[in-house]
Amino acid sequence: MDAAKTVIPDLDALWMPFTANRQYKAAPRLLASASGMYYTTHDGRQILDGCAGLWCVAAGHCRKEIAEAVARQAATLDYAPPFQMGHPMSFEAATKVAAIMPQGLDRIFFTNSGSESVDTALKIALAYHRARGEGQRTRFIGRERGYHGVGFGGMAVGGIGPNRKAFSANLMPGTDHLPATLNIADAAFSKGQPQWGAHLADELERIVALHDPSTIAAVIVEPLAGSAGVLVPPVGYLDKLRAITSKHGILLIFDEVITAFGRLGTATAAERFKVTPDLITMAKAINNAAVPMGAVAVRREVHDTVVNSAAPGAIELAHGYTYSGHPLAAAAAIATLDLYQRENLFGRAAELSPVFEAAVHSVREAPHVKDIRNLGMVAGIELEPRPGQPGARGYEVFLKCLERGVLVRYTGDILAFSPPLIISEAQIAELFDTVKQALREVQ
Ligand code: PLP
Repeated sequence: MDAAKTVIPDLDALWMPFTANRQYKAAPRLLASASGMYYTTHDGRQILDGCAGLWCVAAGHCRKEIAEAVARQAATLDYAPPFQMGHPMSFEAATKVAAIMPQGLDRIFFTNSGSESVDTALKIALAYHRARGEGQRTRFIGRERGYHGVGFGGMAVGGIGPNRKAFSANLMPGTDHLPATLNIADAAFSKGQPQWGAHLADELERIVALHDPSTIAAVIVEPLAGSAGVLVPPVGYLDKLRAITSKHGILLIFDEVITAFGRLGTATAAERFKVTPDLITMAKAINNAAVPMGAVAVRREVHDTVVNSAAPGAIELAHGYTYSGHPLAAAAAIATLDLYQRENLFGRAAELSPVFEAAVHSVREAPHVKDIRNLGMVAGIELEPRPGQPGARGYEVFLKCLERGVLVRYTGDILAFSPPLIISEAQIAELFDTVKQALREVQ
């Protein structure tokens, strides 16, 4: 395709997700094609992808092996019902995902997104306790600034005010929230995991006591919170959450929609932090975002308890999606997981992390920088907001970077970086040099 000739389509009919629609449509930004580390815009400009799309294209864009697997599958078996029928690719994909999960989390439920994975995990937690004769365990504990997608369950355990505001009267009841772990006053510019903050996990004891442990089904956290601005867990924090949940018979869910599949230099954040939850939610890089797909990895005992408590012939978990384990998504997952292994992309992420860390922290001397946080191949730069105009500076830096050929992500005044794991050292330098220039140009 000649990207330079792509015309701007009529923009009116599409209500864009998580977008300032009027602002965007006044000055649209369209991506027409992609390859490796680069997007090409509708007017033919090359854009270095500093975010792996939306934290998801870990192996780089339009990888031939994945595209071919999807095309082959589309011509072989386009669709098969996942209820009471099956097809080989979904079983094979589940086996491959299970193989790289922490030991014991080897039962895989497929969904189509991170949001669906979260709501699925919450439902599995309820079904598990009910199967054990503890149906009174119905509460969920999330965390302030947590992002768990946009389903009614995920929104309720999530901790981002603006996402909840319009829906607040109808959120899933029975939730409470841990405090967020970010503390810029005591832990600014910490490289990797901050030393400060493990004690914040002790808040869980307080919340558990308030509600009584016997009413709580699960605690859900992102091991490293991405969407709310890259919040890295303090040293020892996740271990404490694991100890407290285990003590009270509460399930621990890690939402690894961003962190699974190499982002932290390991298959999962659980592996990186050496803390094993009972369930892991994932999506995004599971198949390099080639076809929508998500999954929940479940500890075998949790799965077996639910499945074995049902009467023979009965459906054990009344839950699933028309597209659970869709043949095209599953084919993409198999090809992607093979690619990750063949190119040792998780190992490559681990090796590149120190270079990435040094490069992002070199932005510290640029104007407006309030904090820099990083771990593995993910980083956030928090800017001082312009007085009276929160978010304006972040948006302008994003636009300046785009003008200069680099895609970064911004949430308010926080810039986030999560490039494909195939990024070169020269491209890492280009990414952050562009950010520095942009910061010097904005007010
Ligand atoms: N959970 C986490 C941790 C996420 O980062 C996201 C998306 O960024 C989601 C859930 C929701 O995923 P989706 O947008 O695929 O529904």
